[in-house]
Amino acid sequence: MYQRRLVVVACAFAAVASLVPSAAQTPPTSSRATLFEGARLITGDGSAPIENSAFLMEGTRFSRVGRKGELQAPAGSARVDLTGKTVIPALIDAHSHIGYMRNLSSGPQNYTRENILDHMYRFAYFGVAASQAMGSDFGEMPFALRDEILAGKIPDAARFLTAGRGLAPIEEISPTNMRHAAYVVTTVEGARASVQELVPRKLQIIKTWVDDRGGTIKKLTPELYGAILDEAHKNRLRVAVHATGLEDAKALLRAGIDVFAHMISDVDDELVALFKQHPNTVVLSALGGPRRTIYAPWLNPPHPLVTETVLPEQIKRLQGRLAETTPEALVRGRDAWDRLVRGMTKLNAAGVTIGVGTDGGGQTGDQFVGWTMHTEVENLVAAGMTPAQVIVAATRTSAQILGRDDLGMVAAGKSADFVVLDANPLDDITNTRRIDRVFLRGKQVDRAALRERFKNIK
Ligand SMILES: [Zn+2]
Repeated sequence: MYQRRLVVVACAFAAVASLVPSAAQTPPTSSRATLFEGARLITGDGSAPIENSAFLMEGTRFSRVGRKGELQAPAGSARVDLTGKTVIPALIDAHSHIGYMRNLSSGPQNYTRENILDHMYRFAYFGVAASQAMGSDFGEMPFALRDEILAGKIPDAARFLTAGRGLAPIEEISPTNMRHAAYVVTTVEGARASVQELVPRKLQIIKTWVDDRGGTIKKLTPELYGAILDEAHKNRLRVAVHATGLEDAKALLRAGIDVFAHMISDVDDELVALFKQHPNTVVLSALGGPRRTIYAPWLNPPHPLVTETVLPEQIKRLQGRLAETTPEALVRGRDAWDRLVRGMTKLNAAGVTIGVGTDGGGQTGDQFVGWTMHTEVENLVAAGMTPAQVIVAATRTSAQILGRDDLGMVAAGKSADFVVLDANPLDDITNTRRIDRVFLRGKQVDRAALRERFKNIK
């Protein structure tokens, strides 16, 4: 943390109107069925893409997936021709901070229902089905909004998932930004009581921090994070930790940590061995912060998706900040990145489960909501994963990590959340940015209306 609307494919319905049988022959659901044909389909399960695919959407779900010409659709289904396109499952961001950023400012003053919704519209615009806020939420409002979106009452918003309030030592959270959101953990009893407060909130994951920030602050002790882990596990909650140090990571693995919210800054053989002993422990990427200092070609000139969603003054500020990077900071940045790549390569080769988190929306205010998901998948390819592996990580794996097995795949029974692309991301991962259309819960996101909306956010 350091650092709109529904459009039915009307023309498709019109084109098949003559095929619609009489009402007497039509089962009740068939008028809501749509057959998408001809796309290259990447289902999210890691198998080879289905060329010339067909998949059927009924209501909010996929009901059948196969090949064009082989898949039978109910009489009266609408047909959409996606020849020449590539379809991927909508992406999942497993680590973010939602509701704080608003144009040039970032902080709790922006943390309103309206601003969280603005962020969730941005995620939807970028083809992200769900994003998990990691320990920066507070009050009752976020839980109510989460439930409203999950109930499908705001169909053009991506799902807002939350870890509730984080659990942190007092010096961890910036007083001007997210401190008020965290439970301050100073005693074992207090740690357990804070976890207990989170139990009724219907969470999958809670968040804590174990990092002395280069020796500048007092980090959480093993006794305190041990109490958090024990109390969480007794209550069927998993714990995500911000801990980037190698020795902290080892101690946390031994203590039974579930999720590393960031890539660990260094990886050695002992750490790999500990991951093998704890096969259910996963790592989220969050490579964007370290990489942006040394690599942000999408900012000069700004990518069209950036100019469509971010106001000019905010783009200018980030350009200015990056331009001020000193040669020494660049060298440090390259060294840190090279270390991350070596570590990621080791973990990936060892079969450690890697999910995708952006850590977007945090305190610097420079991580553009939704866009950073697309830079993050590029970062993972730069860190040695194949595009095919990265797409699985950013879809099915991240959905599973968040306990959302209904998301992250184009498969029968899953929520119909998918992105239609103009080019194949297996050829070049930056093709995830070539977005033609986005569907969430079986409805096309009105990206044109969202673009207009984003222009008016000040
Ligand atoms: Zn974070």
